[in-house]
Amino acid sequence: LSERLSGVFDRLTKQGALSEEDVKTALREVRVALLEADVSLPVAREFVKAVQERATGQAVTKSVTPGQQVVKIVHDELVHVLTGDDDPGALKIDNAPAPILMVGLQGSGKTTTTAKLAKRLKEKNGKRVLMASLDTNRPAAMEQLAILGAQIGVDTLPIVKGETAVQIAKRAKQQAMLGGYDVYMLDTAGRLHIDDVLMDEVQAVRDVATPRETLLVVDGLTGQDAVNVASEFDGKVGISGVVLTRMDGDGRGGAALSMRAVTGKPIRFVGLGEKMDAIEEFHPERIAGRILGMGDIVSLVEKAQETIEAEQAERMMRRFQKGQFNMNDLKMQLEQMLKMGGMEGVMGMMPGMGKMAKQVQDAGFDDSILKRQIALVQSMTKKERANPALLQASRKKRIAKGAGLEVSELNKLLKMHRQMADMMKKMGKGKGGMLKQAMKG
Ligand code: GDP
Ligand code: MG
Repeated sequence: LSERLSGVFDRLTKQGALSEEDVKTALREVRVALLEADVSLPVAREFVKAVQERATGQAVTKSVTPGQQVVKIVHDELVHVLTGDDDPGALKIDNAPAPILMVGLQGSGKTTTTAKLAKRLKEKNGKRVLMASLDTNRPAAMEQLAILGAQIGVDTLPIVKGETAVQIAKRAKQQAMLGGYDVYMLDTAGRLHIDDVLMDEVQAVRDVATPRETLLVVDGLTGQDAVNVASEFDGKVGISGVVLTRMDGDGRGGAALSMRAVTGKPIRFVGLGEKMDAIEEFHPERIAGRILGMGDIVSLVEKAQETIEAEQAERMMRRFQKGQFNMNDLKMQLEQMLKMGGMEGVMGMMPGMGKMAKQVQDAGFDDSILKRQIALVQSMTKKERANPALLQASRKKRIAKGAGLEVSELNKLLKMHRQMADMMKKMGKGKGGMLKQAMKG
């Protein structure tokens, strides 16, 4: 996807201001990109129109290519549309006991999210929370919430067989008042599809509880269907925000843009796994990057420009594209990384490398390792740096000794070098390689 985008951007004019023609060509691709990311057609159209108005006639900054500039405009517009509240994680929970209603389709992650948010309210806000399951269809669902409650140390409303959802909601409210709770959360039943029975029930519960927050939980992998779900729930029940779950998977995030554009309601939280801590406040930039499928190229470009001299970058680029990446390049990269906030900081910004950054971090990688690795390269001869294949056992011993380190550490460095060389080769391939886009200055 980003390859196609960069291909188009590469053909854009290299001078002066962005012409209408340039922008149009680029935006055709952007529209396709949006659709591929599961953004709904009308929303994609509207979005592209807004970008076009913004982009045409804008002067091309000297330091970036026109392509990068369009990417940045698109990115910024995505962030603009996705940004709802300044503080999406701040739930309205004054006037105790504050009711929070959780709605959504079956399997979207309501029960899990209810417990995650309860834990957050308890730990971050110091609130006393009561959770109640209104899922009368499936007794197992009530059990599920009770188990999660016990696990996170949050009270759940005792289960009484045979009650309707409305009766449970009333009892929860009463219990919350009597028990001096700050917040009570109502985890409603879902259906596989939207139907009148479900909507009637949720409406009735809403009327009893008059919730301060009504959060729609939507599976981030749902794609385009999310728009219908969101507008139905918002129209019939009225929602105050959306929680997008399963964003730890390969959900493309387009649903977020569509839901935001169609309902005007903010995305508040993002679910990132099954564990009780796997939830965070919504960050528009992250979803924008995901929709464009290119990581945070924009800030990578900005940061790289601050620290890498253009000439040096250009030289490195040409070598990487040819698949050349030797120890001197590695050393230069390591030094750049130190300057740019460490390995983690850099990798987190590169497309598809977020995971790797995490592995690096989990492996206990920190800046002192960067410095040790630089020392290892420094203790190599010129020949060895240019051709790491020369490094047999005796040379390895000498190099490690020279740096005052173990051979095992050198082996790790060599392995990393091989992996990076492979990656550089892949990324540098083709005229519009991602790396080229990212590093061009
Ligand atoms: P409900 O029917 O809407 O109440 O959905 P549940 O809360 O029972 O969740 C259905 C399944 O999705 C469970 O297995 C959850 O562990 C899983 N789940 C919920 N949220 C997330 C998430 O953010 N990421 C992942 N990977 N799984 C999730
Ligand atoms: Mg449930």
